[in-house]
Amino acid sequence: MKTLKRIGILTSGGDAPGMNPCIRAIVRAATAEGISCIGIRRGYAGLINSDIFELSNSAVDGLTKQGGTILYTARCDEFRQEEYQKKGAATCKHLGLDGVIALGGDGTFRGAEALSRQGVMVVGVPATIDNDMGCTEYTLGFDTACNTALDAIDKLRDTGQSHERVSVVEVMGRNAGHLALYTGLAAGASAVLLPERPVNFEKDVLEVIRRGCIRGRRHHIVVIAEGVGHATTYAKRIQDATGIEARVTVLGYIQRGGVPSARDRASAGLMGVHALDCLRRYDEAQAVVIQKGDIAHLPLHEANGMVRSLDETMSTICNRVDGSWYWDR
Ligand code: ATP
Repeated sequence: MKTLKRIGILTSGGDAPGMNPCIRAIVRAATAEGISCIGIRRGYAGLINSDIFELSNSAVDGLTKQGGTILYTARCDEFRQEEYQKKGAATCKHLGLDGVIALGGDGTFRGAEALSRQGVMVVGVPATIDNDMGCTEYTLGFDTACNTALDAIDKLRDTGQSHERVSVVEVMGRNAGHLALYTGLAAGASAVLLPERPVNFEKDVLEVIRRGCIRGRRHHIVVIAEGVGHATTYAKRIQDATGIEARVTVLGYIQRGGVPSARDRASAGLMGVHALDCLRRYDEAQAVVIQKGDIAHLPLHEANGMVRSLDETMSTICNRVDGSWYWDR
């Protein structure tokens, strides 16, 4: 076990609800043990520019219920170059940091590995609403984002039912469909289009809507993952083919904000404190992960080599109902 005196914390990539409670957990646990915490602003950009501040216990007051990140976040392309990674490592050395905890998604983890190659001890905490990281079953922010999307879809259902429309809802997730799949299943969507699956528009969407109409359904919800393409294009195709008015809602950044859910707050505490323990126990960079439902860790370079695939059990459940995505409600 190493004795830690000073650690750095940064958040990078897209913000995710759960980052703030995680920062709080790390700071609270660290300060209780006499370890001082340095907040690094705007991810790797702050590391390059030495944009830092002392993270005291009082600086993290009230963060359990705050979305976003008090450390700010940014995408910093320069950090992909070794020259800037060396600069980042020099900042850590200059500040006397015994290690850095980096919260973010896949890209953030690759940046953390690059920093570790420059001799800095780093631990990554998975935090992205996309839940698209191969090394972990869960990333901070996913649950809150699903709940936000679900709440919006429930509201769209009310107005869609009244106007007898097709509601086409585009959800985030970048190139991954986890958010769309989970939300679509929870919302009881008629159809869900995912980037991981080839889209058979006739069978997966039009046929389902037509079958629903025969049964007297006047309202349909179609969830589209942003990685599939523009919802407006699909809405036009639905309207042209079925004659039913189709309205588009792009949920966009509202999915990133909001009060973190109970799951995200609790996971944030668990992951944050585990990250601190990893900093103390290891000399090799680590990734905090959830595997088989439990908190765990593995070497960061291994974590970065893992690829996430779509939850087949969940897809299968959807397919078993009737063809693809058909719900008898
Ligand atoms: P999200 O999933 O929310 O988008 P992310 O962490 O995957 O989060 P990215 O924009 O891919 O977001 O990456 C965040 C930052 O990590 C980048 O702006 C860059 O600073 C750093 N980064 C990404 N890839 C690398 C790399 N290969 N080498 C060094 N740094 C990287």
